[in-house]
Amino acid sequence: MRLAGKTALITGGNSGIGLATAKLFVAEGAKVTITGRDKARLEAAAKELGANALAVEADVTDIAAMERAVAQAAAKFGKLDIVFANAGIPGSTPLGSTSLDAFEQVIRTNLTAPFFTVQAALPQLNDGASIILNSSVIAVLGNPGYSAYAASKAGVRGMARVMAAELSPRNIRVNVVAPGAARTPIWKGAVPNEQAMAVFEKRIALSTPLGRIAEADHIAKTVLFLASDDSAHVQGVEIFVDGGTTGLPAGAPIYRG
Ligand code: NAP
Repeated sequence: MRLAGKTALITGGNSGIGLATAKLFVAEGAKVTITGRDKARLEAAAKELGANALAVEADVTDIAAMERAVAQAAAKFGKLDIVFANAGIPGSTPLGSTSLDAFEQVIRTNLTAPFFTVQAALPQLNDGASIILNSSVIAVLGNPGYSAYAASKAGVRGMARVMAAELSPRNIRVNVVAPGAARTPIWKGAVPNEQAMAVFEKRIALSTPLGRIAEADHIAKTVLFLASDDSAHVQGVEIFVDGGTTGLPAGAPIYRG
């Protein structure tokens, strides 16, 4: 077991990539606290994860709530070895029709909140801990309609390196996972039904060198690597888990033959 005796906090752990990671962490021996806003999904996730998990209702944009969540995690399972700042929202912000509120909500959730999640966790973080921040390929892809999301995720890349520099004296590692499109509930707003999802997945498969949309587990397994001692000398990096989308776009099926 790669996380035996370790304690983890995962924001947005009641759905998608966060929940897949929580399941993997528990299976690898960790005690895991998950957070989210949706009480029903938190309860369902807690049931699925079993006795080595704690579900705490907390909005990541509420600093006091996150401080309370960290305190609850530490009280139940002890000081933290792993923080996965994963909670995030998509949010369409096209030029010409975007309100300040809509833009700032994306930045607050995806960029400001990971900073304050780490800051809230810091007093309860063991030396030698591992922090993983969730970014996205959108940080570098220039997808139309995603200015705030792209800015938030690009901000995460920059912020992670600063955090890694600040926390290296405590041997705390900070790294970034940058997923490509993955099959999770995040797409519900943009892709409203199964038929639309099938069309969307086909488009992603055609533009992805490995020819498929990611599963949440693909990302979770990379987060496990970054969380565990297998990555003990990996500091301040960003790992794209995107089937080659950003590194070798011309290798995608759409360009073949
Ligand atoms: P998801 O299934 O929709 O999960 C998002 C999670 O974030 C949920 O657990 C949600 O919980 C939580 N969350 C959102 N806003 C929150 C808030 N204000 N306070 C607390 N929790 C909040 O989507 P996902 O795909 O797993 O996304 C996880 C992360 O991966 C995000 O940062 C996303 O940007 C990133 N990502 C996803 C993809 C993809 O294609 N799926 C690609 C690149 C990057 P509640 O709703 O209960 O609050």
